[in-house]
Amino acid sequence: MNFRYEVPTRVIMGPGVVRKNAGEFSALGKRALIVTGGSSGRLSGALDDVRAALREKNLEWEVFDRIENNPTPENVEEAGAAARKLKADLIIAIGGGSPLDAGKAAAVLAVKEMDPLELFKGPLTVKPLPVVAIPTTAGTGSEVTPYSILTRRDLQTKKSFGHPSLFPRVALLDPEYTYSLPYQVTVNTAIDALSHAMEGYLGKRSMPLSDILAEQAMKEFGQCIEDLVNNNLTPETRERLLYMSMLAGMVIAHTGTTIMHGMGYSLTYFKNIPHGRANGLVMKEYLRFNLECAEEKINRVIRLLGLPGMEKFGEILDKLLPCEEQFTDAELHQYASLVMLQRSTGSNIREAREEDIFHILRRSLK
Ligand code: NAP
Ligand code: FE
Repeated sequence: MNFRYEVPTRVIMGPGVVRKNAGEFSALGKRALIVTGGSSGRLSGALDDVRAALREKNLEWEVFDRIENNPTPENVEEAGAAARKLKADLIIAIGGGSPLDAGKAAAVLAVKEMDPLELFKGPLTVKPLPVVAIPTTAGTGSEVTPYSILTRRDLQTKKSFGHPSLFPRVALLDPEYTYSLPYQVTVNTAIDALSHAMEGYLGKRSMPLSDILAEQAMKEFGQCIEDLVNNNLTPETRERLLYMSMLAGMVIAHTGTTIMHGMGYSLTYFKNIPHGRANGLVMKEYLRFNLECAEEKINRVIRLLGLPGMEKFGEILDKLLPCEEQFTDAELHQYASLVMLQRSTGSNIREAREEDIFHILRRSLK
């Protein structure tokens, strides 16, 4: 064995975790910029809890609540400018993956004013502000990854940048913050988490240690399938989904993603399809494509999910994510060519050529 594995984030999970751990904020800074979306912080209850915790510890703060879904460099630069103006020494990111990723970018831009596209150019040369991540969706696992994914209009896709210094210092996981999630957002984000576990498990960069986390994540997901299909989201299921999405985040923190995410990015960029749903629409064909290189592991995925076979898995995905969007072949060719430009495409276990990607997209979407 010859590997390096690192997730330096302190993870604290449980009901009431923010109020019970106010000391985590005061240990990291005195003046915090809270970075969140238009509604997630408020609807989840997390924003009120954070304010109460900061008040208790006499921290100063300001709220930046204009993070868009699938944020752009311009959007995170606004948050960075707000942090510089406040002279913030701590970023508290509350929300789904969009605000969490934006919070990481803002943590860099807070210490150095620059064109946000510089974030994508090579290793970071500055030390970003510490980030506390408080997820309100159970999906991206961004609370335990060093990645930030932004929408690049100049490249017509989404692109990630990452650096070990961007791991949040602390992740505070309270399943109750996910109770306010609408059903379809719950499904989409859960599928995103499943895609992380799968791609990490089946990709070239998988290793025994990350496989343990991936297998457990898929097993936990399997126990939620019935409740997801029946829209019976009990507190136990909510908790399990938040836990498994964190495990799956720890997987991709090491392995990165592969072609499923690459294809999903085009569906989001061009058709505004939510991230998890976009991955889910191509998930079954992604597995089929990889079968010849990873049959044993893929059969294991299906077993871990508690399912009798691939067909049943396909039926479940169709129920959870009925495909309504229309695509032309020309669009799918364009998406396939963009997937070839993603670095993560090279990590797929079976070598994927542009033509292969086109066929996966076509089988999935037409
Ligand atoms: P999201 O874009 O953060 O949020 C989706 C929607 O759900 C938004 O409208 C959001 O409201 C709302 N919402 C969030 N929490 C809520 C709650 N508790 N109650 C009610 N509404 C709530 O979705 P996401 O799937 O979590 O994140 C997707 C982003 O993460 C994408 O940009 C994706 O590329 C990225 N991602 C990052 C990683 C990583 O490792 N960093 C991994 C996978 C994906 P608001 O409008 O208020 O935000
Ligand atoms: Fe994802």
